[in-house]
Amino acid sequence: MTEMPRPGDNSPGFFVAPGRCFRMIYSPQLQSTHCYEPTAWRGRWTDAKGRVHRVWTCDGHTDGLMGVRRVP
Ligand SMILES: [Zn+2]
Repeated sequence: MTEMPRPGDNSPGFFVAPGRCFRMIYSPQLQSTHCYEPTAWRGRWTDAKGRVHRVWTCDGHTDGLMGVRRVP
């Protein structure tokens, strides 16, 4: 049996758009949804296929990013 995700956990998807956190997280209903935290950082994210994306992220989601820089 696989472990159930909890609300706020990272879900498998991600999403790249200027000024939006790239992470997808689980909502309280355990639906995959966008992270709506304000963005504070930019960095490079390598996806599961090895492609590198330049992404925006909030304070809580910088794990796994390379070249993280604070944005004004
Ligand atoms: Zn986030």
